[in-house]
Amino acid sequence: HYFDTIAEMGHEQVVFCHDKASGYRGIIAIHDTTLGPALGGCRFWNYASDEEAVIDALRLSRGMTYKNAVAGLNLGGGKSVIIGNNKTAQREMLFRAHGRFVDSLGGRYVTAEDVGTTVEDMDFVHMETTHVTGIGSKSGDPSSVTARGVFRAIQASAFQKWGSKELTGRTVAIQGLGHVGYYLARELHVAGARLLVTDIDAGRIDRVVQEFGATSVALADIYAAKADIFAPCALGGILNDDTIPQLSVEIVSGAANNQLLEDRHGDELESRGILYAPDYVANAGGVINVYSELTGWSADRSLRKADEIYETVLSVFTLAKSTGIPTYKAADRVAEQRIAAVRGMMRTW
Ligand code: NAD
Repeated sequence: HYFDTIAEMGHEQVVFCHDKASGYRGIIAIHDTTLGPALGGCRFWNYASDEEAVIDALRLSRGMTYKNAVAGLNLGGGKSVIIGNNKTAQREMLFRAHGRFVDSLGGRYVTAEDVGTTVEDMDFVHMETTHVTGIGSKSGDPSSVTARGVFRAIQASAFQKWGSKELTGRTVAIQGLGHVGYYLARELHVAGARLLVTDIDAGRIDRVVQEFGATSVALADIYAAKADIFAPCALGGILNDDTIPQLSVEIVSGAANNQLLEDRHGDELESRGILYAPDYVANAGGVINVYSELTGWSADRSLRKADEIYETVLSVFTLAKSTGIPTYKAADRVAEQRIAAVRGMMRTW
């Protein structure tokens, strides 16, 4: 039944890979290459079943098509998963095997680090193929680029909601002060916003309290915090039945992946009049940074591309408004329109 599933989900190619010597069992899913090579990370996970692994690869690769398309990059969507125990694996053999399979696809798929894989793993992949990003010798920390994009998404949301992107005097509640959260706090502080912050790591809180005059909030209180904007920068699934009724903000815009526990929570935000900047549009700075590695862009060029997230988020809001659909659905529509436009051009060549 996998053929029905991939036909329904729109995948071009799904490759099952096996290497006896290393015990490598991998699935490489290429969803769509209309815009360019399918780019997406490699997840290493002890899946409960092969089916779970396939579904994860299919779902995540499709997500990358949308993310890359909305970011305005000439990249398609793909993803790979490796089935196995992350702790006991013989990493060099395993990731070199992965590299050989990636190489066999001739550049149709470009792999990268993801959950369960590291920069060192990608160095092993690089021994076998050039179709890999995020390797130790090249990559920079993407977080400042991601934070810039999220900041621009917040500005666009403010413009949509209040008619001005000005953030002076606005209060932003930030959940998670890790790599992205810290840089976002800095951007917002410079823009004159007041910050309410939380993290499970007290040291990270102290730093933004001291550097940016932020006010610390207990972990569970971040949802009900008296703020204008909520910026989730820690975990996924935090917009759910329990948290949404607590929100008093008018805007949700942050870096975390998969913020909506289920699609219907996007509808719920909409019905409460809370403007949601779709996560994968707001956090596209991460993939922009990866793209810069492929194209040789400077850090400055990446930041400028991340700045364009402002216009992209506004175009999502405009489409949502004109068609009467929630913003999370409008984001998908914007991605589909870009792919359809390029496909249309290809037909006339
Ligand atoms: P990170 O691990 O550096 O930071 C996450 C922070 O959240 C940590 O400080 C952690 O202590 C804190 N945290 C964990 N659980 C928490 C909780 N229950 N309440 C409050 N704080 C909690 O990760 P990051 O790189 O900053 O990424 C943050 C989010 O953005 C993730 O969801 C990530 O997938 C997404 N994202 C990151 C990038 C990037 O460039 N780093 C790009 C796209 C998306």
